[in-house]
Amino acid sequence: MKRPHGVVVASKNADKIVEVEAVLAALDPPVEVIPGHIWEDVAETQDTLAGNALLKARAVAAATGHAAIADDTGLEVDALDGAPGVHSARYAGESATYEENVEKMLRELGDAEGRGARFRTAVALVTPAGEELVVEGVLEGVITREPRGDGGFGYDPIFEVVGSGGADGRTLAEIPAAEKNRISHRAQALRALAEVLT
Ligand code: IMP
Repeated sequence: MKRPHGVVVASKNADKIVEVEAVLAALDPPVEVIPGHIWEDVAETQDTLAGNALLKARAVAAATGHAAIADDTGLEVDALDGAPGVHSARYAGESATYEENVEKMLRELGDAEGRGARFRTAVALVTPAGEELVVEGVLEGVITREPRGDGGFGYDPIFEVVGSGGADGRTLAEIPAAEKNRISHRAQALRALAEVLT
């Protein structure tokens, strides 16, 4: 697919938008973000991250007439057989807060020794002409026993990064934003997307 001149970021999550825009701006050449568009909420009805990312990007490309980039992210925890995965936003209930999801995760894992986990992000790019691309990014880590750090959002305070760019035992909430935007699942997916554009 040809590199679009500009994209609409198909998200209403302010935390996510800040990260997506920072990563797109850091690409070489940067991808321009087109601001100021609104659209109806898109229900995440698919049972895969890629399916939901495509659903959102298609709806926003159709509503705005611009290329749209959407991300859908899940936290996969080994001791929970990969849950909550695609259901991560609603883990503690339909309109759960970040804190409620984090509390539920710590409660479910209890004292479990095996705490391996990964963030997986699917990013979809859809143009108004109907061209579509989906790529993934993954960040490996472990779930901590208590929240640490004030940065990031969502599950970041309980996700300790393992073996990626020397994160040395910090959680994603203890890592400066610029560093999270270099190593994160979301950043990896957006860079992979940029690489396949011509
Ligand atoms: P969604 O992609 O907005 O559906 O996000 C799924 C869930 O994962 C939500 O609870 C988010 O808060 C959380 N989440 C998404 N991206 C991140 C991240 O980069 N760090 C921590 N939590 C995240």
